Order: sequence, then structure tokens, then C-alpha cells
Amino acid sequence: MKTTPERAAFDALPHPTVVVVGGGFAGLELIKRLSGKPFKVILLDKNNYHCFQPLLYQVATGSLGADNIAHPFRRTVGPMPNVIYRMGEVLRVLPEENCLETDHGRIAYDHLVLATGTVTNFFGNQRIAHEAMQLKSISQALDIRSDFLQEFEAAVYLEDEHRQRQRLNFVIVGGGPSGVELAGALAEIRKTILKHEYREVENERMQIHLVDTNAAVLSNFSPKAQGLAKRFLEDLGVRVMLNTLVTGYDGETVSFKDGSTMPSTTVIWTAGVKGAPVQGLETALEERPARYRVDRFNRVEGTGNIYAIGDIALDTGDPRYPKGHPQVAPVAIQQAGHLARNLLRKNGSAPQPFLYRGKGSMATIGRYKAVVDLGKLKFGGPIAWFMWLFVHLMSIVGFRSRVMVLTHWAWKYLSWKNTIRLIIRPYVRKEYKVEQPAGKVEVVG
Ligand SMILES: Cc1cc2nc3c(=O)[nH]c(=O)nc-3n(C[C@H](O)[C@H](O)[C@H](O)COP(=O)(O)OP(=O)(O)OC[C@H]3O[C@@H](n4cnc5c(N)ncnc54)[C@H](O)[C@@H]3O)c2cc1C
Repeated sequence: MKTTPERAAFDALPHPTVVVVGGGFAGLELIKRLSGKPFKVILLDKNNYHCFQPLLYQVATGSLGADNIAHPFRRTVGPMPNVIYRMGEVLRVLPEENCLETDHGRIAYDHLVLATGTVTNFFGNQRIAHEAMQLKSISQALDIRSDFLQEFEAAVYLEDEHRQRQRLNFVIVGGGPSGVELAGALAEIRKTILKHEYREVENERMQIHLVDTNAAVLSNFSPKAQGLAKRFLEDLGVRVMLNTLVTGYDGETVSFKDGSTMPSTTVIWTAGVKGAPVQGLETALEERPARYRVDRFNRVEGTGNIYAIGDIALDTGDPRYPKGHPQVAPVAIQQAGHLARNLLRKNGSAPQPFLYRGKGSMATIGRYKAVVDLGKLKFGGPIAWFMWLFVHLMSIVGFRSRVMVLTHWAWKYLSWKNTIRLIIRPYVRKEYKVEQPAGKVEVVG
């Protein structure tokens, strides 16, 4: 096969090959750290872009466009002569052969780094998994955007109050930062868009319910932040349902553990994640969180040249985090930087153990409303909100995206309007099918 001089130069590099699976926060940071260093790096991802997940909820609620929070890998690796990108899904690791099986064939490695992140965890409830919406990817965020706009448009036609309320009852399950931020954004949409542009619909008929099994929202934050967040949400008209367990959802009705039910055609599940492992390393997989057990150097248990970083890695060796590090972007980024340093150190000094430096936590609830936990400093309100805006703006990959996000935010916060309210790809809920033993399929209403 004919090849370009650039590809020939890459192939001719006399360096070991590092294959990085997943270009999220961890994978992307790692390739940046290995750029220009004595390694041939191959980045593999099933998507052709890096997704800035903390702002997915803004895509879901029409404040930002998909391209504002996504950055093409080829633009990142273009100027990196020792890094190439391949779009593809990794299916299996073959550790004894030092190679990977992908949907495009096999790829050999000297060092393998798994940074595949997480998927939504429905804790085994298949019916909820089928009916509820998720917020883990751009396509899911676009589904939510289409869905809430479709519900508004449908509600305009409905005369029956019960049916109208059912379509305008938005149930968000999970009171972590994603659920809180989504609930706040939907509440602002009710106050602005629904009120001014859907005048045929009584505003009060749209209800946002935020459900959590814990006794407080933002369970990993300080009690002060939890209290403030709840108050901010309630001020915006969100119904915060604590100590409440969702046990079922059939697309029309949500069921709770206490036997009560609620009509709703939109349930958004942000109640948990589990790792997205690939096949072939099952002995190192901690079953329930589906994360790879790693040592203090991020080496996958029982292997010598396979590493896991970011959300998929479970390092219980640091006494400060006996259940593993929190699954947040700063951990992923720091582990990537640390692994890069250890890989570069390999033939010289001994590798160093990973020590996470916590950066604090923040969540926004709406305009001028956010909470920040920063060491002993815990506060909420407009200053926290500006801090949240600044930190997120500066973390987005790509100068163009940063400018676009700033422009969208400036417009939104001056005009009170979410600009991207387009149903480009309508959301169509699929029928729920139960597999019968004989291979037949039963369609459930
Ligand atoms: C809605 C939401 C809001 C969040 N908000 C915050 C926040 O405000 N602050 C914060 O710190 N953290 C936040 N997080 C968590 C943060 O996004 C994660 O901790 C972080 O993304 C983990 O990085 P990662 O690199 O481990 O995985 P990811 O960023 O999830 O990247 C994994 C990558 O692997 C690819 N991949 C997966 N499987 C395969 C495969 N088999 N083959 C090929 N490619 C594969 C995926 O396409 C993806 O690009 C949020 C998460 C979500 C979902």
C-alpha cells in the first residue's frame, strides 16, 4: 500500500508503541504529555471527537451547540508527529499477544493504556434502562433537547389536564452535580421560554422533580453546599424529593418504593455510572463498579505493561481514598500526567505512586446560583457562579470552542434565551421488547 512521507516517518520511529484507548479527559491529557517524546502513540476512540462532559447538560437544554463542547481528535493530533488517531471501537485485549482486537482489526502495542471511562448505571433495571433518557454522550444530550421541545409542542395540543401534566412532568433521577445542573436549567426554561413562547400552556403545569435516595442533594459536597443547592433549586420551583427510591418506569408512569406513582413521559437518569471495560482482562475487573483494579502506578492488576487511568481505574491503595478516587475530570487529568511521567522515567529511576491533589468541587444551579467547596472555603451565590463559569470556560478544549461558549453564554445571560431550540433529529422512543425463551419477542405496551 502506498503511504505518505508523514506516515512512513511515524512507522520508522525507533520507539516503543503506546496505544491509548479512549480520548476523554485522561486519554487526551496523556497524548498531549507524550507528544514529542520517544514513543509512537496511537489514540483509539469510537468517536472522532473529545467530549467535554461537564457541559453536556447545556447542550441538552439548548444553551450550547454540540460542536461547542466537542473537539475533533484529528485537530489535536495533527501537529503531533509521533501521535496518530484511529477511529474505532476496541473489543478485546489479548494480553498474552500484546495486541488489541478492534472493529477494524488488530493493533499491537508495547504499552497499553485503557481510558474508556464510564457508562450510565441502571443497577440492573432493564425496563428503566430502556425507557429513561441518559446524559453521558452528545447524542444523548441531543435526544434530551429534542424530547423536551417535542413535549412542549405536544402539550400545546392537549386539552386533557392529566395528559398535559404527564408530558410536562420532568423527572430527574440522581441529585449529583449532573442532576442538579439539569434540574436548574429546566426550571429556568420554564420561567423564560415556556412562559413567554408557549403562552397557550399554563406555566405551572410544567413540573421538575429531582429525586435522590440520599438525604441531601450533592452527596459528595459539604453540608453547607448541599443546603444552599437545595434552597436554590426550590427557589427556582424544582421539587426536590429526597430519601426517595425510583423502582420502576414504563415510559408513562414512574413508581417509587413507597408505592406511590407519578405520571411522566420524560425521566432522565443521572443516578450513577459504571465502568466501560473491554473484554479480556476480567480477572482485574472489580465487578460492581466495573473498574480495573490498578496499583499505585496505575498498572492493571496482574499485568506488566497495561495501565488504566481515569474513571475506569480503581486504585484503593491511597488511604485517603480507600474506595478509589472520585470519578471526576481532575483525577483523570492528574493520573494521565502522572502516568506520562512514569512512562518517561521507565528506563531510569523507579516509578512514583500516584497522589491525587483534590481541586475542590463546584456545581451551578442557575443564573447567579452555584456552590463551591474549596478546602475550608465553602460558599454559594454569584461569586461561586462566576467562578464556575470561568473554570469551565478555561477547561474547554480548543480556542474556537471557548470563544463560541463565551458568546453563547453572554447572549443567554443577557437575553434570558436558550438559543439552540431546534428539533433537528426528533427523539423517537423505541418499543420495549422482552425476549421470549423460544427467541420470540413480546412487545410491551
Ligand atoms: C453529565 C456529566 C457531567 C459531569 N460533570 C463533571 C464536572 O462538573 N466536573 C468533573 O470533574 N467531572 C464531571 N463529570 C465526570 C467527568 O466527565 C469524568 O470523570 C471524566 O470524563 C472521566 O474521564 P475519562 O477520560 O476517564 O473518561 P471519558 O471522558 O468518559 O472518556 C472515555 C472515552 O473513551 C471512549 N471509549 C469508551 N469505550 C471505548 C471503546 N471500547 N473503544 C474505543 N473508545 C472507547 C469514549 O468514546 C470516550 O471518548 C461529569 C460527567 C458527566 C457524564
